[in-house]
Amino acid sequence: MPLVTTEKMLMDAQKEGFAVGAFNVENLEMVQAVVEAAEELKSPVILQTSAKTVQYANFSYFHSLVKAAADGASVPIALHLDHGNSFELAMQALRAGYTSIMIDGSHESYEDNICLSKKVVDACSPSRISVEAELGKVGGKEDDIDGGDGGLTEPIEAKEFVERTNVTSLAVAIGTSHGVYKGVPKLDLERLSEIRKVVSVPLVLHGGSGLSEESIKECIKRGICKVNYATELRIAFTEGVKQALSNTPNIIDPKKFTSVGREKVKEMAIEKIKTCGSVGKAIVPAL
Ligand SMILES: [Zn+2]
Repeated sequence: MPLVTTEKMLMDAQKEGFAVGAFNVENLEMVQAVVEAAEELKSPVILQTSAKTVQYANFSYFHSLVKAAADGASVPIALHLDHGNSFELAMQALRAGYTSIMIDGSHESYEDNICLSKKVVDACSPSRISVEAELGKVGGKEDDIDGGDGGLTEPIEAKEFVERTNVTSLAVAIGTSHGVYKGVPKLDLERLSEIRKVVSVPLVLHGGSGLSEESIKECIKRGICKVNYATELRIAFTEGVKQALSNTPNIIDPKKFTSVGREKVKEMAIEKIKTCGSVGKAIVPAL
């Protein structure tokens, strides 16, 4: 089926109390792995690329890859720009056919973040493309993102931010981090519940990699509808490739080792989709 936006997908998740996994993909094999996992579990899914990833290839490559995967799939698939760091980058994603865009103005002042996010919403709304923004700072490092020690989301500001920007989803900072966690993260779950009470749009959890299954389930119970996974998928792919190369050092066909990475990513995506509670939630059109 054609690519879908994240707006309805996440509103459905919000209504039914589950989350949709959003997986960062870096190559053909990761795209295939995530889509196969979603197909097997009859789950909606979001595939996303970071600013660094579209710098490595470009929007057109990733759009073509994910569109091809979606065309052959029976579950709803959205293609999302993760951490778009400028208006220009967001517009490149829009023009390339991405169906969902994150504009990350969290490094700006509150007012400038509102201004930038609203500008992207205004540009995307005629084509009904979904927009995610971030308020507060998710800590940690990943690619070009450096949230430092973070700064948690204030519920009152979150309410006003959504009303003034009309974003379709909001990434919140409640103590999670990008990259690999050092020690056990301390999540401010009360804060999440407070934000949920006053904000109408679906909430997004960044830094899902490395959080325990219980923590993620608790966050979903308190209103998270999209969980981002990047680091664990990268680790899974790379471990698979390393394993294949060390088991058979004389491999020369890239398919022989990238396919092992693909299998590891699929296993990981299956586990995460189950944690998100979206198994069987794909709305498959009637024949
Ligand atoms: Zn993030």
